[in-house]
Amino acid sequence: MKYLKQIKLLIILLLMIFTLTGCTLEINTNSENTITIHTNTTNTAQNIVSVQKEDNKQNVEVETDSTFDLSKIPSYRENPYVIVNDNKPFFEDKDFTNESFESYSELDSLNRCGVAIANIGKDLMPTDERESIGSIKPSGWQTVKYESVDGKYLYNRCHLIGFQLTGENSNKENLITGTRYLNVQGMLPFENMVADYIKETNNHVLYRVTPIFENDNLVASGVLMEAKSYEDNGEGIEFNVYCYNVQPNIKINYKTGESSSVNNTNEIVEEVKTKYVLNTSSKKIHLPECSNAKDIKEKNKREVFEAKVVLIKQGYEPCGSCKP
Ligand SMILES: [Zn+2]
Repeated sequence: MKYLKQIKLLIILLLMIFTLTGCTLEINTNSENTITIHTNTTNTAQNIVSVQKEDNKQNVEVETDSTFDLSKIPSYRENPYVIVNDNKPFFEDKDFTNESFESYSELDSLNRCGVAIANIGKDLMPTDERESIGSIKPSGWQTVKYESVDGKYLYNRCHLIGFQLTGENSNKENLITGTRYLNVQGMLPFENMVADYIKETNNHVLYRVTPIFENDNLVASGVLMEAKSYEDNGEGIEFNVYCYNVQPNIKINYKTGESSSVNNTNEIVEEVKTKYVLNTSSKKIHLPECSNAKDIKEKNKREVFEAKVVLIKQGYEPCGSCKP
């Protein structure tokens, strides 16, 4: 009886842990008896725990590249970031080099960015002017304005590795949908610090930014920023921080990027008007360049200059292929 009780308790405890961490488990079993468990709670795609069974012997192998765990991050209060792991980055010795490099992750099936890492030296820093990045739509992108946001626009196309560090401006593997607050209050002070240090010393800084997406959210909950200077072994620069992708007084739906004002329901919320092509029969919204838009019968085709949110209220939905 006592034993049964203990098992019950254990099961309840395990269930609680999974519910609390929002962890989803996918278990794939193949013919070789390999079970792979992907956990979505922690950030990177490399976070794979695999359990292999061979000849009745169990060989447990745990691979984790990063020990960052979003469930341990307190929810946002008033500081744009929190210090992680006593401010010590999760880099491994083998990551360090005196050669400059930069590397970005391919977008995943939801068009989301992954880890961006660079060993930043003066040679990577930009000399050219910034070109426009207005044509890039990172996952969860919405063009929306609020009176309370500095500069009005809630979202910025937010560089994972700041333009001033590697000059990667219109690289879609380096741009996420980030709030103005994340961009300016959260990330910018760290970027400035690193840029100033490199310019002054001509040293290298190993620098990694990981956008943290929960489950299949299109907007990142925040970014993990890690940095350590190479030549002086972290004397000049060393930090490990999590910056919140939040905007005070704005409620964000991280699954879609939709947002609303928290306190002031009368606050002017304005979505920027854009040229769309509507199919009045299928009730789909297309971008003018979408191939599906070109196939719409003339009698069902309507060209509009309108905010998407207004069209959605009228019963339209975005086309799955051009994703307006
Ligand atoms: Zn379309």
